[in-house]
Amino acid sequence: MRRELDDPSLLKTAAYVDGTWITTAGTLAVHNPSTGDLLAEVPLLDAAQTTAAIEAAHRALPAWRARPAKERSRILRRWFDLVTEHAEDLARLIVLEEGKPYPEAVGEVVYAASFLEWFAEEAKRIRGDVMEAPEASRRIVVLKEPVGVCAAITPWNFPAAMITRKAGPALAAGCTMVLKPAEQTPLTALALAELAERAGIPAGVFNVVTGDPREIGPELTGNPLVRKITFTGSTEVGRLLLAQSAQTVKKTSMELGGNAPVLVFDDADLDEAVEGLIATKYRNTGQACISANRVYVQDGIHDAFAKKLAERVAALAVGDGFDEGVQQGPLIDENAVAKVESHVADALAHGAVVLQGGRRHARGGLFYEPTVLTGVTAGMAVTREETFGPVTPLVRFTDESDAIRWANDTEFGLAAYLFAKDAERIWRVAAALEAGMVGINTGLISNETAPFGGVKQSGIGREGSVYGLDEFLELKYLAWEGA
Ligand code: ADP
Repeated sequence: MRRELDDPSLLKTAAYVDGTWITTAGTLAVHNPSTGDLLAEVPLLDAAQTTAAIEAAHRALPAWRARPAKERSRILRRWFDLVTEHAEDLARLIVLEEGKPYPEAVGEVVYAASFLEWFAEEAKRIRGDVMEAPEASRRIVVLKEPVGVCAAITPWNFPAAMITRKAGPALAAGCTMVLKPAEQTPLTALALAELAERAGIPAGVFNVVTGDPREIGPELTGNPLVRKITFTGSTEVGRLLLAQSAQTVKKTSMELGGNAPVLVFDDADLDEAVEGLIATKYRNTGQACISANRVYVQDGIHDAFAKKLAERVAALAVGDGFDEGVQQGPLIDENAVAKVESHVADALAHGAVVLQGGRRHARGGLFYEPTVLTGVTAGMAVTREETFGPVTPLVRFTDESDAIRWANDTEFGLAAYLFAKDAERIWRVAAALEAGMVGINTGLISNETAPFGGVKQSGIGREGSVYGLDEFLELKYLAWEGA
């Protein structure tokens, strides 16, 4: 498949601040995880340049929030149209810097664009309220106003979608934004900025600062002009950002780590359960926060499920994301491969058995074999920590209550999945699972109309859906005497 961009001007190697493209003497190298090749170098902004971006967003705020919602909506819609028009180039950038197979990258761009379309529509539907007051002489009027300048910090695993899911609602609400994309994947973010500029998003409304998170992060969390931090990434970094933001009492949205359990009951449809698991586990080579991390399978279906799953997993084609038919790309870096290796080694040392895969892939580099383990038990690292790789650990269970207890035995609560047919069981189990999202007979749960987010230490707030806009709006109440 062709790697060259149809529109080479989408490959940007400068940061985007106040409507201008800026470079720095020091640079950050961006590599292709599949080949190790150097793709580009982008600027390393320092704290002072980050401050300048925040001040630009602050200056742009009054005019942007004052625009009629319908105008903001039209501009966001133009951004959606341009992202859709350039979907193939954006997908190429994603494959190059992130490694996922090209068809998945196209899927990500469609998903990313859907948030711009959705929030362009929602922008027009922001509405307040009028309430009965305790006194006859008074009216209570509730207005919704943009929070103000927002800082967004995004991860590498969905380099486009994690940005539009934040920028779409922020800009729709009338907020302005400074975005810091992940060091591994700034090129997609900068291409989105180029398209934002072409869409007519005014200077300062959407800024992209590239560089070292330890330099940029404290300025984003510490600057009092920033009123909101919206973050997707690890729970560890989320905790740090929450602590730093406490000094200036910022509003926060946190999409953090997961440890998604999958419960497969005896009455599940075998094919549906296997396909559902493949969809949630092996997408992006297991590198998604809602990826199945541990799979509890009831006695009666366990062996048939394990056999069928192992056959499907053995058939997954591993390779470079641009190669025809490839379904599994590389992991993002050597640390990611080392973590997968250590989780598998720990499981084997404690009695698990490899049913499929279980090693680095013969291609070398950052490739790991799609893997299925059986005989896994609670306490193994592979069930306690997020593996973030192509490994399915199967845990056998007999009683529903045990499966629920094990599923909930974690500090995380992002996604959970269950496969069953009995309606009472589905309702009972879905109600008992401590998760923000429950997939029932499906492994695909993310879309722009549904509220995405977690409970417990998986996060705060929701993205997408009618609820996602509220995260970028404040209520102002007018106590109107004599009205
Ligand atoms: P991952 O393990 O998936 O890379 P991280 O939480 O480390 O997840 O990274 C997610 C985002 O958080 C990235 O944009 C990264 O640059 C940023 N980040 C990492 N450390 C910090 C920090 N100390 N302050 C601010 N941002 C950070």
